[in-house]
Amino acid sequence: MVKRHPTKYMIEEYKRLVKERLNWELRELQSASKPICQVDGREVLMLCANNYLNLATHPKVIEAMVEATKKYGAGAGSDRSISGNMSLHEELDKRLAKFKGAPASLTFQTGYMVNEGVIPQLCDKGDLYVSDQLNHGSIIDGVRLSHADRAVYKHKDMEDLAKVLEEAEKHHPPYDHIWILTDGVFSMDGDLAPLPEIVKLAKEHGAGVYVDDAHGEGVLGRNGRGIVDHFRLGREEVHLEMGTFSKAFGVVGGHISCGSLEIRKFLYNRSRTFLLSAAVPPGVAAACIAAIDVLEDEPDRVKNVWRNREYFLKAMQDLGFNTGNSQTPIIPVMCGESETAKKLAKMLWDEGAFVLPIFYPMVAKNAARIRVQLCSEHTKEQLDRAVEAFEKCGRKLRLI
Ligand code: PMP
Repeated sequence: MVKRHPTKYMIEEYKRLVKERLNWELRELQSASKPICQVDGREVLMLCANNYLNLATHPKVIEAMVEATKKYGAGAGSDRSISGNMSLHEELDKRLAKFKGAPASLTFQTGYMVNEGVIPQLCDKGDLYVSDQLNHGSIIDGVRLSHADRAVYKHKDMEDLAKVLEEAEKHHPPYDHIWILTDGVFSMDGDLAPLPEIVKLAKEHGAGVYVDDAHGEGVLGRNGRGIVDHFRLGREEVHLEMGTFSKAFGVVGGHISCGSLEIRKFLYNRSRTFLLSAAVPPGVAAACIAAIDVLEDEPDRVKNVWRNREYFLKAMQDLGFNTGNSQTPIIPVMCGESETAKKLAKMLWDEGAFVLPIFYPMVAKNAARIRVQLCSEHTKEQLDRAVEAFEKCGRKLRLI
């Protein structure tokens, strides 16, 4: 018999990660997620939260969560597909559809579960996914759950996308369905998908367009309605727009908006993550509804996150930092080697700034970076402190 050990390999693999300095250790957030936080026993300036509009601590969002929890309980009691589909979930679906200007929306437990649940239902054997090279891991995993063919085009390269689609037309038998999948805002670089050009190419080939706008909503479009609104595109052009309540909306949950109530029903009939997993608690659904209300009522939050982004970006560029191709409040500070990014993150931590180092295998070997994410409640003084810390550490590492 082969000698097996059930868990030893896990420890060995972890040790390998440590040896190769690829291990990830969790930090502990000991306060609310705010511009100034308590992390691992220290007060730090938060520069790596997805909480772009600071709705996680908005009094109206908190109050909605508390009140709904008191009235409807801590949990929904079941999956939405069984007995956990509360009125609040239905209300949230409708509220989001109204906000997005879509005929229908469907909300899930997380954004990850939208991509894992919906994408595998779009294509099967005889169909094709066409995916941007830098799409988020949850899109990649969604594709992996299907038997369909897959092709990848170079990041945002429309000539390459056109080539991939032309090549796809030569396939025999012809593909029944083709879906183009793209992030709206790419989370590592903060750049935008060229959605109008993607839509144009999709139309030529009768392909569907699926956009993951996790980092675009709350930031792009009127009152933060997202990338589809930003480019003024319609539901016949971008057929499925997914997003998350865990970033700018400040809560948790995933969602998808589409062109008809029938498509919504197709989605909830087929998506296994929707069908086979519990509904978000009523307090979460209520908080998400409140967050949408706040987005509509307080447009200054979106303005402020952009103001902060412009201010920080200009200061960093004036100092000579390479800020990549950022077009949003996600600003990469390019470092080159993984070790440089890790060192810079550690030095910034020592200066009291909490940033995220991103390195291989998350990005290419020579494209390690610090990812800075700005929020609407960062003050000018805090941004100046951040820039000063970057300047001090960046000079030591000869990045500027
Ligand atoms: N898509 C993208 C582009 C993301 O960045 C994320 C979150 N990291 C997700 C999907 C998943 O969203 P959620 O946190 O709601 O699962």
